[in-house]
Amino acid sequence: MLTQRTWIKNPLAVFTANQLDAAGGLVIEGSRIAELLSAGQQPARPVDSVIDAAECVLLPGLINTHHHFYQTLTRAWAPVVNAPLFPWLKQLYPVWARLQPEALALASRVAMAELLLSGCTTTTDHHYLFPQGMEEAIDVQVEVVGELGMRALLTRGSMSLGEDDGGLPPMHTVQSAEVILEDSQRLIQRYHQRGEGAWMQIALAPCSPFSVTPDIMRESAAMAQREDVRLHTHLAETLDEEQFCLERFGLRTVDYLDSVGWLSDRTWLAHGIHFNEEEIRRLGAAGTGICHCPVSNMRLASGMCPTRDLEAAGAPIGLGVDGSASNDASNLMYEARQALYLQRLRYGTEYATPERILGWATRGSARVIGREDIGQLAVGKQADLALFRLDELRFSGSHDPIAALLLCGAERADSVMVGGKWRVREGQIVGLDVKSLIARHRHAAKRLFADI
Ligand SMILES: [Zn+2]
Repeated sequence: MLTQRTWIKNPLAVFTANQLDAAGGLVIEGSRIAELLSAGQQPARPVDSVIDAAECVLLPGLINTHHHFYQTLTRAWAPVVNAPLFPWLKQLYPVWARLQPEALALASRVAMAELLLSGCTTTTDHHYLFPQGMEEAIDVQVEVVGELGMRALLTRGSMSLGEDDGGLPPMHTVQSAEVILEDSQRLIQRYHQRGEGAWMQIALAPCSPFSVTPDIMRESAAMAQREDVRLHTHLAETLDEEQFCLERFGLRTVDYLDSVGWLSDRTWLAHGIHFNEEEIRRLGAAGTGICHCPVSNMRLASGMCPTRDLEAAGAPIGLGVDGSASNDASNLMYEARQALYLQRLRYGTEYATPERILGWATRGSARVIGREDIGQLAVGKQADLALFRLDELRFSGSHDPIAALLLCGAERADSVMVGGKWRVREGQIVGLDVKSLIARHRHAAKRLFADI
């Protein structure tokens, strides 16, 4: 059987971070990009279908490097709307502890649907809640990822340090080290795919310094090394956390990270805000990735990630929407726009260009999660891409199409392809009844708060 060839023809603009000429569009063959065409150039061989992209900007599929899907059930909850991280967490933990598999499946479907519609083709999720009945939470998520046809790096999160032992989460939300490690091993064996074009990967992700023991950090690092999978955690998000590390371990956050064997290029960190110069140098030298989550950082007033200094030191930077209880939208284009504006406040207009920020959302995020086969429009890479139409009202009168995406506020892709398959067409997810999903998800969100 011949492999299907599709020509995405003559886009208005193409975002190739490496300045490749693709004005004539690109040809997809099977699951990969086969040709990049310059203006007026014809494909080398006949194609089976042609997509006219004359009104569209073509981007590599965006990559989301931090999320908590389950939190879509607890968006904009009045008691925590105006709370900073620690009180926000303390009020939400008991609600989250009521999570059940069906609600997690709906929450994951909603989060991924939102991401897909914003042009995202690969996402991570950091799931660290395994109360009774939720022992197979990651298995539930694997199934939903398959339904939506996205690429995913699901992280087996964990919490092992409860309130009685000096941690932040309530005791009924934490698990023993044995259970965590056994399940981590099982998930890697069952689901982790290796190599080019992988659709499903597993990483290990103890939640944060204030919710896990140093032992779990060390054991997770050892398992990640042994199994060659990635490591993820929250770090240096707030000054409360820094204070916790100083009091409990007598160490600042990066010293703590180093002390448990995590300061490496296998690790990526969510937030990465409160670092001093020496810590930035060490993170850069180690090649530790940082996921910048601007909206969450602004909502919780956590601070600003020092992206320029981290980049200059050698740390890869990616973007993440973070969980929906602190964002509360799973829209990666919206996140890129906020990153541009927030980083301009810190480093000025000339640093935070649309090209740099879109670079973080694509190639940067790919580096952060250790992938070289996605995040770029180049021959041989996976055919993961998004088309944004610029004939909407919000773009009328704009000139530079790439800048217009962020400055005019693009938020919804017209078409999204993952591994050569269309997952979004004309702004709709192929095969998903969104109306019915919303009805079921809203019902599950209400039930979570019943009798509270
Ligand atoms: Zn988070």
